[in-house]
Amino acid sequence: MLDFNFHNPTKILFGKGKIAAIKQHIPGKSRVLVLYGGGSVKKNGTLNEVFAALDGYTLFEFGGIEPNPSFETLMKAVEMVHKESIDFLLAVGGGSVIDGTKFVAAAALFEADPWSIMEQGGAPIQRALPMGAVLTLPATGSEMNCGGVVTRKSIQAKLAFQSPHVFPVFSVLDPEKTYTLPLRQISNGVVDAFVHVVEQYLTYPVKAKVQDRFAEGLLLTLIEEGPKALDNPKDYDLRSNLMWTATLALNGLIGAGVPQDWGTHMIGHELTAMHGLDHAQTLAVVLPSLLTVCKENKQKKLVQYAERVWGLNQGGQDQRIEQAIDFTRQFFEKMQVKTRLSDYGIGKESIPALVAQLEAHKMVHLGERRDITPDVSQKILELSL
Ligand code: NAP
Ligand code: FE
Repeated sequence: MLDFNFHNPTKILFGKGKIAAIKQHIPGKSRVLVLYGGGSVKKNGTLNEVFAALDGYTLFEFGGIEPNPSFETLMKAVEMVHKESIDFLLAVGGGSVIDGTKFVAAAALFEADPWSIMEQGGAPIQRALPMGAVLTLPATGSEMNCGGVVTRKSIQAKLAFQSPHVFPVFSVLDPEKTYTLPLRQISNGVVDAFVHVVEQYLTYPVKAKVQDRFAEGLLLTLIEEGPKALDNPKDYDLRSNLMWTATLALNGLIGAGVPQDWGTHMIGHELTAMHGLDHAQTLAVVLPSLLTVCKENKQKKLVQYAERVWGLNQGGQDQRIEQAIDFTRQFFEKMQVKTRLSDYGIGKESIPALVAQLEAHKMVHLGERRDITPDVSQKILELSL
């Protein structure tokens, strides 16, 4: 096992009606800015529930954070934070709203140009406003981690940032708040969580038995419960298992002490920035090809994945690995997420520009061994056609 420090300060409030308890976790007399997306939380009553729970605070609201939140929109929220002397942020929504709120929390107290938060080698975040979250879409793990992804539309750049200062103070996970999700977002959430686990599990072995077993448990839960949730979207037990799985997939626990890949995510970000695919759609396209191209590097863990996750004990190693990758693709398709670039109308001619963007964003040494160079990314994209 590799060395690590692990500290996750986010308090989780899990269960029905837990929104009512948020007051206990926000200092009294705070001036609270409630941030949300395109309106789903208005329509389904979640926002009203939040306002009712915040009775007694001075409240402000900022709506309109789009999926794949944009720097341009978030800077308007930063302006509002300054103008109204906000001292606590509350995100109500999915990963986009939570990521966006993290960015606002850091940018509001940032002395240099806030875009440098997003640039590799930019000035580090020294502090951030405190924030909480009410999660409505299980997928990203943003509710219990310290990362965020922000897009600058004007230059088609979708980049990630991280800082221990942007862990939410608390997050409410009420599975009933996910009942209004469109099927496409249930599917996206399962695929995103699955790929988060894989990016921390399918690397090279470091004898981290407990992380492996945790990761396999999360993958098996997604495989078992994900498709059922599409048929029974209001089954509380299904939704709670998926919600907690997505959180545990990316809250630092299974990634502590093991090598991590993240190549699928970084290549996927370029696909969203240039072609507008949903985050999970990009992952479903890239992961099977990345595993194929990197199968030598990942051989030992791929065999373990084939055996323990897909029950493949017969045949030679290569055959089992290929079958496991194929089962992964079939699982995404069963979740109704397409796995080929051509399914989204993207052809070979788009690949050079995608690779150029990876280079422009310094994504030139991806993967757990840092050997996914631009020519390897190109191979992965070609195999994804
Ligand atoms: P999302 O972009 O937050 O939301 C997708 C859509 O779902 C929105 O249109 C939203 O509508 C709708 N929605 C959310 N909750 C709903 C509900 N309960 N009922 C009905 N509709 C609902 O999706 P996401 O997958 O959670 O987040 C994706 C973003 O997170 C991407 O930018 C991705 O790169 C990033 N990400 C972050 C991390 C991390 O660690 N921080 C990890 C992976 C990915 P409204 O806008 O109307 O609310
Ligand atoms: Fe993700």
